[in-house]
Amino acid sequence: MKRIGVLTSGGDAPGMNAAIRAVVRTSTAHELEVIGVKRGFAGMIDGDFIKMGPRDVANTIQRGGTVLLTARCKAFFEPEGRAQAAAKLEEAGIEGLVVIGGDGSFHGAHYLCQEHGIKVMGVPGTIDNDLYGTDFTIGYDTALNTALAAIDRIRDTAASHERLFFIEVMGRHAGFIALSVGIAGGAEEILIPEQPEHLDQVIETVRQSALKGKASSIIVVAEGFEGGGLKVMEAVSKATGLDARASILGHVQRGGSPTAADRILASRLGFAAVEALMEGKTDLMAGVVADEIHFTPLQETWEKRKDVNQKMRLMAKVLAL
Ligand code: ATP
Repeated sequence: MKRIGVLTSGGDAPGMNAAIRAVVRTSTAHELEVIGVKRGFAGMIDGDFIKMGPRDVANTIQRGGTVLLTARCKAFFEPEGRAQAAAKLEEAGIEGLVVIGGDGSFHGAHYLCQEHGIKVMGVPGTIDNDLYGTDFTIGYDTALNTALAAIDRIRDTAASHERLFFIEVMGRHAGFIALSVGIAGGAEEILIPEQPEHLDQVIETVRQSALKGKASSIIVVAEGFEGGGLKVMEAVSKATGLDARASILGHVQRGGSPTAADRILASRLGFAAVEALMEGKTDLMAGVVADEIHFTPLQETWEKRKDVNQKMRLMAKVLAL
């Protein structure tokens, strides 16, 4: 193999730049040329390629977002779109590809491998942490810390006004961010999409904590739980008459300088992905399991399910007493 491509796709996540940097520098160390594909699969179809050397990724490890830009690309859902993209790769002499993204991006990479024989390696870059085959995804730790800083600030207001706050965090299908940030932020209740609780139960919990003398409370709601933070807040405040507010953290959770944990994870996975491609591995995701690099077939990353830690969930309930 002489030349590989690297791209970021789907939602951006802090630490993607650290992963790109690791891919570029590891490749250079092995005398592999690296081509940056801009705007994900959309840029691949357009042939939007740039040659990348070690100096091109200088001063990027601390930056959020992605210097290669990212996009969603409808054409890639169709075999014709992927054939166009494969032709562009062939034209440019790109034999292997590192795809940094979430499960949607891994679908695209998998089909590119199956249909056109391109060697592909996935690197998990998504703040949601919802990928099977890795304990953590790149961006998750930064998103947690960003959400936590916001919750700490909101708590000051909640306490001063003796108010109930419903804070919505990202997670349409997965409650990893909500559970972890709820524990770290000392939340009264954590509501996640994997375990739909009846709203009556939530209302009862809030009533009970008011009876226990709690004047203010923080309830963390994943966006995929029962229509999100605003809806839950309205239902609870209507039923209890308590002074409640909702705060939707939204896109602030995606941006910002990556934490040390995310930079280290991204560096390890970018490095591992290039070495794996050089060994002839393909159609896999590089992840970290119990602090060791672990490869998982791309298809398993979406077919198998990573569950939130039930013991942590039970613990959170005890600690909210
Ligand atoms: P995140 O969940 O963090 O946003 P993601 O990689 O899951 O990241 P998606 O928007 O789901 O983000 O997917 C990114 C791109 O991958 C899509 O725009 C599309 O080009 C491609 N893709 C997604 N699903 C498929 C699929 N089933 N087949 C082919 N390509 C796909």
